[in-house]
Amino acid sequence: MPIMPEPAGPHARRLRTESGPAWRGNGPLTARATRSTFPNPARRGLSVGVDIGGTKVAAGVVDVHGQILAEARRATPGQDPRAVESVITELVRELSADYRIRSIGIGAAGWMDLSNSTVLFSPHLAWRNEPLRRNLEKLLRRRVTVVNDADAAAWAEWRFGAGRGESRLVCVTLGTGIGGAMILGGRVERGRHGVAGEFGHQIIVPQGHRCECGNRGCWEQYASGNALGREARELAAAKSPVAQAIIAAAPGDGAAITGALVTRLAMEGDPASRELVDDVGQWLGLGLANLAAALDPGTFVIGGGLSAAGDLLLEPARRAFGRNLTGRGFRPAARIERAALGPEAGLIGAADLSRLLSRSGT
Ligand SMILES: [Zn+2]
Repeated sequence: MPIMPEPAGPHARRLRTESGPAWRGNGPLTARATRSTFPNPARRGLSVGVDIGGTKVAAGVVDVHGQILAEARRATPGQDPRAVESVITELVRELSADYRIRSIGIGAAGWMDLSNSTVLFSPHLAWRNEPLRRNLEKLLRRRVTVVNDADAAAWAEWRFGAGRGESRLVCVTLGTGIGGAMILGGRVERGRHGVAGEFGHQIIVPQGHRCECGNRGCWEQYASGNALGREARELAAAKSPVAQAIIAAAPGDGAAITGALVTRLAMEGDPASRELVDDVGQWLGLGLANLAAALDPGTFVIGGGLSAAGDLLLEPARRAFGRNLTGRGFRPAARIERAALGPEAGLIGAADLSRLLSRSGT
């Protein structure tokens, strides 16, 4: 699969897009390939994309321009892998009833093996070495593409969103934790073992807050939605008068103070919530400066629920980025942009990848 980091060889497969061959040998799928020439995209080249998250499974019919023509969703049915597979099957069948579908792409929260057949591990679902692709192909009786959900979302932002035309794109998703993905030279970069992009677990504060990965001081303990919620709960527990609006928004229930709530209050103008979002933004910028030192991207695209705060989050991030960037003043700095596609990016990217890979005959 050319857009995944498989070794090149005599059997390297080629990827074609609407505008002709975009991938030769081991070269990149380039941004030039993004324009469609289909006269009627509503009828041709439709794909189903499915995004499997910890709480919901979202599916959509996606055209060659990344537009969603129809959507369906269900709650993620607990931890049972078989139940998750039947929900996916149901959604795909439901959407296929009204459209002629040429390919199916699944974005799953978890580590894929390099052949994208097996989910090695999923933090929120019970997949452990789960042959997801084979199982779904049996159930659906057709070919299925399975990709990591963060890779799928990054692909969508690169093809249709805030990262269009960028030769070195790094995407950071701020949700419960921090997700990451890279599109380098038109390829999804997944590292040697398929598990690259775990930016959230760079250690940014030695001996800092404990992380569920087992380490202390990981970036996602400081710059995620969870971090924002934790800081706000601490402020509320101290019964600080500045936390008035936060306490009033979750009366008698500290646990109801979440990153999403604080983001909303900040957007409504609450000064304490704005300060908390500002703090998270500064942590975000510091981590991005570390990533820039290692990866030198042209653009960072910031997505996930927390990115709804827009410039309340991104301005402090840009300032902290500028202050901490190595060689600042003597090098061009990456742009830091908010993701453009919202929570549907994962299903759009999964659909688009499946369509391009099916055209390549893989
Ligand atoms: Zn960690």
